[in-house]
Amino acid sequence: MNTIDLRSDTVTVPTPEMREAMATAVVGDDVYGEDPTINELEATAAEMLGKEAALFVVSGTMGNLTSVLTHCGRGDEMILGKQSHIFRYEVASAAAYGGIQPNTIPVLPDGTMNLDDIRDNIRGENSHFPTTRLICLENTHGGAVGAPVTAAYVAQVAEIARANHLKLHVDGARLFNAAAALNTPARELVEHADSVSICLSKGLCAPVGSVIVGSREFIHRAHRVRKSLGGGMRQAGILAAAGLIALRQMTQRLHEDHANARLLAEGLAQLPGIDIDLNSVKTNMIFFALKPDAPLSIEELSEQLKVKYNILMRPYSVQDRSVRVVTHYWIRQEHVTAILHALRELLAPNYQRLASD
Ligand SMILES: *Cc1c(COP(=O)(O)O)cnc(C)c1O
Repeated sequence: MNTIDLRSDTVTVPTPEMREAMATAVVGDDVYGEDPTINELEATAAEMLGKEAALFVVSGTMGNLTSVLTHCGRGDEMILGKQSHIFRYEVASAAAYGGIQPNTIPVLPDGTMNLDDIRDNIRGENSHFPTTRLICLENTHGGAVGAPVTAAYVAQVAEIARANHLKLHVDGARLFNAAAALNTPARELVEHADSVSICLSKGLCAPVGSVIVGSREFIHRAHRVRKSLGGGMRQAGILAAAGLIALRQMTQRLHEDHANARLLAEGLAQLPGIDIDLNSVKTNMIFFALKPDAPLSIEELSEQLKVKYNILMRPYSVQDRSVRVVTHYWIRQEHVTAILHALRELLAPNYQRLASD
């Protein structure tokens, strides 16, 4: 990869080993349950996450939507973070296809929601009210700079859910990043969840796919929902072959991405014109902003990085002059050095001239 692409960990292309496994995968018709590679992927995901069963789905959005539609009926309500992916970035699909009303709560900088806020938003018995059915958490939380959410917090939310006869879904698109950052097995992070969605195609490098896990009974019903959403695939073992490598191997190396994010963040903090909260960098995500005295705007910065250095970053908020950066498998330590060098040239041209004098 000549381009240093920091826009997201979704840009990861499959590794040569994945391509090899895909080429040689044993396949069958998964709609008949006859694709051995899909079956192996689902069994592996269920085992790793400590649940009875699993289901391979096309994307993280389909994983969340399938789960939410399996838990809730029309006119039901789900409680979730206002900064959550499900609420912000999934095209209101739960409302559009399931008639499910979101009841949002602010997400705190640590990726959690206040427990009293959750309790206060659960509807009581009243013929005017929607029925609360579900609480959704996100781990790591993309709306909170990729903050990992602890097993202890998830257990507390699960207790509230159980006491109120609600289900708990965890959007764990980057759950294994949380596991790596907290040094906690992923299965402990979701021990008390009724359903979990994980992405294979973000930091785990697989080209396509997500997996949802839960009880056998939940997955049985989710299977029908997936089919109704058009997610019944045939010889998809070709994709699952990469997914197996993602689960078995790529989950083991995510701490490297976190170390590179940390290295990059510490370098950024040394540069003039950059505002960054080092405490917020906990996994593979960094947000930084340009200070008012920076010599160029956020759009100019990202344009120059692209044109001059082949470095891609995503301007996050033009108003706040902020940028999001995500590290992943294809970003190595030498890239971090190159990124910092480029930023120094753009933000501190005088420093450069002195340094090279
Ligand atoms: C990426 C992501 C998703 C959805 O993934 P897609 O595969 O793009 O549909 C869901 N939740 C979170 C937290 C994500 O980061």
